Amino acid sequence: MIKKPIYLDYNATTPVDPQVLEVMWPYFTEKYGNAASIQHMFGWEAEEGVDLASTEVADLIGAKSGEIIFTSGTTASINMFIEGVCSAQSITESHIITCVTEHKAVLDCCDELEKKGATITRLGVDSFGLIDLAELEEAITDETRLIAIMHANNELGVLQSIREIAAIGHKFNIPIFSDATQSVGKIPMDVRELNVDAMAFSSHKLYGPKGVGALYINKKSNRMGAPMMAGGGHAGGFRSGTLNVPGIVGFGKACQLCQDQQEEETLRLGEFRAYLENELGEIEGVTINGKKAPRLAHVSNISFRNIDASRLIRLLKGLAVSQGSACTSSVMEPSHVLKAIGLSDDLALGALRISLGRFTTMDEVKEAVRAIKEAVEQLRSPA
Ligand code: PLP
Repeated sequence: MIKKPIYLDYNATTPVDPQVLEVMWPYFTEKYGNAASIQHMFGWEAEEGVDLASTEVADLIGAKSGEIIFTSGTTASINMFIEGVCSAQSITESHIITCVTEHKAVLDCCDELEKKGATITRLGVDSFGLIDLAELEEAITDETRLIAIMHANNELGVLQSIREIAAIGHKFNIPIFSDATQSVGKIPMDVRELNVDAMAFSSHKLYGPKGVGALYINKKSNRMGAPMMAGGGHAGGFRSGTLNVPGIVGFGKACQLCQDQQEEETLRLGEFRAYLENELGEIEGVTINGKKAPRLAHVSNISFRNIDASRLIRLLKGLAVSQGSACTSSVMEPSHVLKAIGLSDDLALGALRISLGRFTTMDEVKEAVRAIKEAVEQLRSPA
């Protein structure tokens, strides 16, 4: 059998935890009811599974179960919420403030709204990937309907100051939406403390199944916007359609496991990353991007001067790592995030993103260091 590469791309997606798969299984076999079938036991069983999952997902972020809307993933949650907020008013009178280092899901959604007449401000970032809070406040106008700033960046792992951003927005009665796909389950999270009005995240980034996500909407701030999926009136009419019960049940279990394991995992992966960055930092012409900013413990974004990362990755056959963002890696352009923090094309195109996770071992990290050092040396040695 072919030996699989060492998986170091946990920011792209994570394997389903075996304990998650175990709780999902019965919902494919004997508990196959539709959660909306309120007349019989099959429906009640499915509904029970969804209710428990709502509580587990909500508990992980300090929300109430009634504040969670299940979707097919972060991209769906983002589009539903941002478009919903704008469509509830007049799109042409809607101004949204976002940031240049957002994931394409937010950037492209804003581009589409701009084509329909909305006004979009895309804030720049400093060399750490963080927005300037004074600039944010200056950008607010009478027509600002939403501030959409991500929590942890998917390429760098750096964390924006969401609490401070929310405080500025709320001073002007503007809701805050945050794409927290990379941070939920990885750091302690309390939506009340962060004071966000809405938040999006995906199950597959935290050891749950793919194709399931959540949109948290703070009940008190009441920023539901217009319903984006018309149909049978599911999820309070906001998101109609039969629920993906096995996926939702798995998502709930995955959240519960993160709740239990997050603290230990952060410490362990932080140690692994320190080793990785110390070792690779010894190579000449290496820059660790975002290193001085507050960032997630399991992510490392490393530029190798005068090295084309796609050639490097081709040599690293035993490793599964990412060049720039996984979601845009079919396009060979320097990453918009690395360009935004001021990297030259050379350093941006020479960057690897290594993201560790629950099943990463120290032996794997050591093997990755060895393989990267060897590949860099090979690319730099005269032919
Ligand atoms: N936002 C961020 C920060 C991400 O990292 C991703 C996926 O990589 C997404 C949004 C899109 O998530 P999904 O593909 O689950 O919809």
